[in-house]
Formats: sequence, structure tokens, C-alpha cells
Amino acid sequence: MDTTPSTLRYSQCMKPPVISKSRYMAGLQCPRLLWHYFNQPDIFPPIDAATQAIFDRGVQVGALAKQLFPKGLEIGAGVIKKDAVDELSRAAVSRRLPMFEAGFVAGCAYARADVLVPVGRDQWDIVEVKSTTKTKAEHVSDLALQRHVCEGVGLGIRRCFVMHLNSAYARRGEIAPSELFTKTDVTGDVDDVVGDVGSELKTMVRIIGQQRAPNMEIGLHCSDPYECPLRATCWKAVPKHSVFTLTHVGQKAFDWFHDGITRVQDLPRDTPVNAKQQIQLRAIRSRRAQVDRDALREFLDGLEYPLHFLDFETINPAIPVWDITSPYQQVPFQFSLHIVNSPGGKPTHHGFFAEGTADPRPEILALLKRHLGQRGSIVAYSASFEKNVLRACGEVYPAFASWWARAESRVVDLLQPFRSFHYYHPDQCGSASLKAVLPALTGKGYADMEIADGATASQEFLRITFGEASAAEHRKVRAALEKYCALDTEGMVWIVKALDRLR
Ligand code: SF4
Repeated sequence: MDTTPSTLRYSQCMKPPVISKSRYMAGLQCPRLLWHYFNQPDIFPPIDAATQAIFDRGVQVGALAKQLFPKGLEIGAGVIKKDAVDELSRAAVSRRLPMFEAGFVAGCAYARADVLVPVGRDQWDIVEVKSTTKTKAEHVSDLALQRHVCEGVGLGIRRCFVMHLNSAYARRGEIAPSELFTKTDVTGDVDDVVGDVGSELKTMVRIIGQQRAPNMEIGLHCSDPYECPLRATCWKAVPKHSVFTLTHVGQKAFDWFHDGITRVQDLPRDTPVNAKQQIQLRAIRSRRAQVDRDALREFLDGLEYPLHFLDFETINPAIPVWDITSPYQQVPFQFSLHIVNSPGGKPTHHGFFAEGTADPRPEILALLKRHLGQRGSIVAYSASFEKNVLRACGEVYPAFASWWARAESRVVDLLQPFRSFHYYHPDQCGSASLKAVLPALTGKGYADMEIADGATASQEFLRITFGEASAAEHRKVRAALEKYCALDTEGMVWIVKALDRLR
């Protein structure tokens, strides 16, 4: 697709651009993405709530990391102009103190370092703060650019570190940054790639100066290492029942797509596909659901009444908000439970929503122990999630653990018949998620929900509980979350009913 605008921001007749860290990383991911950043920035969609939450998390993590460098100098806080930051940073170098966000321009590259730490008489360590729990390949590329730039302006770099979150840290009282973070020395990895930075930059400058966007085919790089913000543009030609919807298809789908076979139904009849893909093909070609009645009967016969349909909403903040929780640990703040006592019986509903900032787990566990009782299946969708959440709760609250150790064997995963393709409807478009299965099987769904996915639910809970929200806003969000979580469990009731009719 040609997305070349009539007026380019950069062209060969203008002075070369200055490439920042984020643009350098974009250039490594995809030349087309890089070109658009410089030549057609208007094409990018506005930053959505999920992306903004990632930025906010980075800021929060960065602020805590700074506490580990007590004499650190804040360089150019709020200053965006590269030359101004460069000037302020150069002026601060001689003070030989840790510097936060110092930035330099070297040739066509610009990089700000999270922390520059003075070492000995005239050397520096670069510390890149990340909100991940481990070092990733892209962190090394990021540090390689920083090192290239720092050395380009005459700073001697001794070592490069990634300072990331320690997944073994459990909060007790105030956050302890010295325990929350762990530092990984990646100097050797940076050494291996820093020599390539100059030529990468040269190539990027050439790409940016081109009159037209580079032709790039879509591929795995569109979401690796980051989800590309231009997907909506480049993937526009991907149809509804595209070859990408075949389960576990991988690179093969891209090969077919680039050969002009874009839809599942266009695959030649002799295309080798596995048994599950075969079911998908049959469903799409016949436009009918594919049902394995024997397997469904076996699954349904395994359910024991009373049925307890359970769903949690959880938060997993990078920085734990409750005691005895770790970075990114899934901690429940809400549950919905529908109980059906006998086949065809009317479901009763129980729910819980955490009010206030206290750890809700003790109350959740006590309520669940009471409502789940001693017998009957506990039905969850993608049940390993609910099991892991409850197991982790049990590790902290031993009184609950012994009961849960007995109850866990009652858990049945409602995802199983769909993951196994014992039922597959073409409208699922390759997905076995509750959001795909519920409307395809029952005609009901999440269309009118104000909150309709787990990530938004989590963000909204954190916002109204630990951020700033008026009482009215709090009530509105709580109502939306209760509606959403209740639909997850009521939806499971409808799914079992629908499967029962098919057996
Ligand atoms: S969607 Fe893919 S091809 Fe398009 S700019 Fe992004 S990474 Fe490149």
C-alpha cells in the first residue's frame, strides 16, 4: 500500500534528521515504520489508554529507580528540544554526579540515558531502567545507541546495565527500591552490537530521505518486539477469514498471504493442514458450526451439579499496591459467581467488588469458601488463570490453602471443548476466547458493554481506587465492572446450556 503523502517532512534536499532512541528502535523493527515517523507523522493513531498506561507505568518505575541514586541530578526535566538537553547535559558532566535523563546529540543520533553514573576519575556507567522483570534483546539495542552517542561526545563508558524489576520481591509496607530492582550487566552484549550502530544510523538516514515509503511486506516483525502502531494501515487488506485465523499457523500464513492467498477458503484443496485447521476449513466452506457431539457429551457428563461458574477480575501492577504481592502478580479485586443447582435450574448470582485500598483477598477467599461449598464443579473459562490466582492466595493465607487444596480438583475448564475444536463456529475467526465463543454460539455478547476486556477492567479499577476519581465516576466504573464480570459468568451458563442442546 502506498501511503506517500504529497508533502514530505524530510527529503533529500533537507538537512539530515536527528534520530532519537525511540525512532532508532522503530527503524530496527521496520524501515517503513521509521519512514512514516519522519515523513507522515499524521498517519499515526492517537495514543490509546492501554499505551498511555504503559507510559505511565514507565514513569512510575523510573521515579522509584531514581531513589537508588540519592545525589542524582535531574537534567532538563520537561525540556524536549534536543539541543537544549544536550547543552544542559554537557554542562553537568564535570560535576561527576549521577545524572538522570542526560541527553546528547552525536552526529545524526540523539539519546537520553535514564541514569549515567560516574565511575572513577572520568568514566561512566549507563543504567537503563525497564519495567520488565528480565532483560530483553531490544534493551541491548537501546543501550548500544546510548553508548554510541555518549562515546560520540567524548564520554568514556565503562559498563552498561539494565535495571529491571525483581519478580521475587514481595512488598511489605513501603516499597523498598533496593529490593524492587535488580541490575543485569549487559556490557558484553552491548559490545557485540555497538559497532553496528553507525551503519544502522546511516541506513536509517537514507531511508528517511527517500521520496516514498519503503515497500515492506507485513510479517512477524509487525508485532516484534513491539506492536506496530501502523498495523491498521498495513494490515487493511487482511480479510475477515484470513489465513492468519488458522490455529497455530505461524509463518506459513505470511507465505500464503504474500503469494496472493489471503482467505482460508481460497487455500487449494490439497494444502496440508492439521486436524484442527481442517475443522476450521470445513466450518468456513460450509458456513456452519462443526460439532463433535460425542466429545461434547463426554465433557458435559463430567460436570457435577451444583455448577459454580466463577470469574475473577484482577490487577497485576508493575509496582505492587498490596502487601505480600510481587511485581505483575495477578491479584483479584472482584469476582462473579453464578450457581446452578440442577440441570435447567435458574442461576443465582454472588459477586464481590473491592472497596477502598485495603487488600481484598481475605474477604474474597472467605466468601468463595462459603459459596463454593464442598461439592459440585467449579467452572471457569481458561481455568488455569483462576487456579493460579487462588493457589497464590493460598500461599499467603494458609487457612484458605488447605480448603483450596481439596477444592481445586473440582475445577473444570470450559475452554477445553473449544480449544479442542469439539465445537467451532466460523464466526469465532480462529479464536477460542470467551469473547469469540459466546456470540458465535449464543448470539449474545459484549457489544454494548462500557468495559469489555480484562485489561481495561484492571486499569479502571486501579484508576478509581488508587488514582483520582470523583464519587460519581467511581460508581459508574464499579457498575460497568460488575456488569462486565457478571456477563463473563452468566455467559458461561448460556454456553453450557447451548452445548447441552447440541449433545
Ligand atoms: S505494520 Fe508491519 S509493515 Fe507496516 S509499518 Fe508496521 S511493522 Fe512495518
